[in-house]
Amino acid sequence: MKLLDSIQFLKGVGPKSAERYHQLGIFTISDLLEYFPFRYDDFAAKPVFELIDGEKTTIIGTVVTPANVSYYGPRRNRLTFKIKQDEVVIAISFFNQPYLQSKVELDKEIAIYGKWDAKKLSLTGMKILAQVENSFQPVYHVMKNVKQSALVSLLQSVFDAGVGELIPENLPPSLLEKYRLVSRKTAVHDMHFPADEAAHHQALRRMKFEELFYFQFKMQVLRLKDKCMARGLTIDFDKEALVEKIKTLPFPLTAAQKQSLREIITDMASPYHMNRLLQGDVGSGKTVVASLAMYTAVKAGFQAALMVPTEILAQQHYDSLQALFPELSVGLLTGGMKIAERRDILAGLESGEIQMITGTHALIQESVNYHALGLVITDEQHRFGVNQRRIFREKGQNPDVLMMTATPIPRTLAITAFGDMDVSIIDELPAGRKPITTRWVKHEQLLPSVLPWVSDEITKGAQVYFISPLIEESEVMDLKNATDLFHDLQAFFGDNVKIALLHGKLKNSEKDQIMMDFKARKYDVLVSTTVIEVGVNVPNATLMVIMDADRFGLSQLHQLRGRVGRGEKKSTTILVANPKSDSGKHRMKIMTETQNGFVLAEEDLKMRGSGEIFGTRQSGIPEFSVADIVNDYPILEVARTEAITICKEKDGSQKAAYEMILANLSNEESFD
Ligand code: ADP
Ligand code: MG
Repeated sequence: MKLLDSIQFLKGVGPKSAERYHQLGIFTISDLLEYFPFRYDDFAAKPVFELIDGEKTTIIGTVVTPANVSYYGPRRNRLTFKIKQDEVVIAISFFNQPYLQSKVELDKEIAIYGKWDAKKLSLTGMKILAQVENSFQPVYHVMKNVKQSALVSLLQSVFDAGVGELIPENLPPSLLEKYRLVSRKTAVHDMHFPADEAAHHQALRRMKFEELFYFQFKMQVLRLKDKCMARGLTIDFDKEALVEKIKTLPFPLTAAQKQSLREIITDMASPYHMNRLLQGDVGSGKTVVASLAMYTAVKAGFQAALMVPTEILAQQHYDSLQALFPELSVGLLTGGMKIAERRDILAGLESGEIQMITGTHALIQESVNYHALGLVITDEQHRFGVNQRRIFREKGQNPDVLMMTATPIPRTLAITAFGDMDVSIIDELPAGRKPITTRWVKHEQLLPSVLPWVSDEITKGAQVYFISPLIEESEVMDLKNATDLFHDLQAFFGDNVKIALLHGKLKNSEKDQIMMDFKARKYDVLVSTTVIEVGVNVPNATLMVIMDADRFGLSQLHQLRGRVGRGEKKSTTILVANPKSDSGKHRMKIMTETQNGFVLAEEDLKMRGSGEIFGTRQSGIPEFSVADIVNDYPILEVARTEAITICKEKDGSQKAAYEMILANLSNEESFD
């Protein structure tokens, strides 16, 4: 028997059952061995005084009352009896398993697995155990036609036949030694049949390390490949021109901005291809950094393009690029432009007359040709699909690529999801920024204190956002909420206050119009669902009221509140919420305590898991089978460091390790 033999070679597996195993992804013996349980039931008995309320456990005791079955409905019945452990009497009940009565014998010892209730000193039984049973049992994800027990005995037979001994090691000895990892064959065995908790822990630690290490290694190899494809452009930067330009800015760059800019232009000047993510909290000043990078590209004779998700953002960037670079020819391209205007822009891009451009998806339409596109930048990169980003890149001859995001991605996620990119982080806000105060109030305070505050702000000439509650996955309800709120506010404030309503059902052009009107101070209050755009700048808005704020995640609340605090005046966000859950209360509290988007993102990740933050697979975050990027973050970091070291030293001290890993990798189909 060999690892790569089909499972059909196993006793007890015929063509039919093989088919069923195939559906679980098990084709070979090796697949079977790597089909790990998703949990273990620990049937080890514990003394009562060690038990925690609600815990599932096994209790051993002597039966002191006969078992009695009482019926209280059709097919609903309860079996009850008492057992004694030392001097403690414990009440046992089983629901709808009357046939267990015969297994309960007075004065005999019995082992029962069930759920412990510490207050009542009682156990709701799930099963009665034969005491010899192995106390630590694997539980697998199976389907209808595959039984747990069949899978367990199949695995047992494979190990009994000695096949487990054939499992080759796939980590270099240096790593096994350094991190005291058990061998692969021990780990695989102990993932299924650990002798005890400690053995299982070691097996799991090893498998997690392996999974994360291989993942990071792949990323590093891809990254090196990318870098070594020296086909990237060399954008020599004109240092003096850049320095002069920076002097003309109305403010000094922050240290973090300077550092990011340095990283970007160094990449651009190198013959390698740049693939970099620029992250920074809302208002941290990414746009200036991006603009200066664009300037550098233009000074070196290339064109630079900046793609954003909405027309209003495009317009905003266009205005600021023009202000910053009056000596350059800056273009704007959006879907809503007149045909003649568009024709001129396209001609300018093709001839090279336009040096720098910003726009929406319109920038990547088929009809758009560039003369010498050297730098492509995507703002709010997660708003674009992988394909759109690829098309953008292909508009030039392997241009340098910069992506920006205002969703602070915790480092944990950044190095997994974007492990093949380099990451620059702007982790400080410009000096003198007035911090946004965040307050949390209960609904009861809306009328007596929040609305008067709003009135006050408006009287002072400022503007106010109201965010209506979020109903997950119900645009209809979101709209209703926003509309109700809009009417309530109109009724409260009367005609003196001008209120606009913004929601997802509006056309993009209508949304943009409302935002522009709000920016032009045609309205005092903007009631909105969460559609208001990240990045839209209305410096005169100083107050935001978020209704039912506990329905939003931390990152989202943080994004929302980034809409205020953009001007000279002191700004406030009011969270209106009566959270019922502890997690809701915790979220409200932490929002009032920190302004740091990275801290919040980490917190969000802990509370909700990575899936929630970015939604789906298209975010690029891989799924792991044994590892969990949040909880196993320390392992991930170590795995990354080791992968980098081995890749760096691949022609030197780590040659053997590198080649061993690479050989294992090329056996995997998914890697090419
Ligand atoms: P982001 O895109 O990262 O959310 P922006 O680039 O839009 O942030 O910057 C927000 C505001 O801060 C803009 O008005 C910008 O001019 C200003 N700003 C950027 N960098 C600085 C700085 N170093 N000092 C002061 N103000 C700055
Ligand atoms: Mg921005």
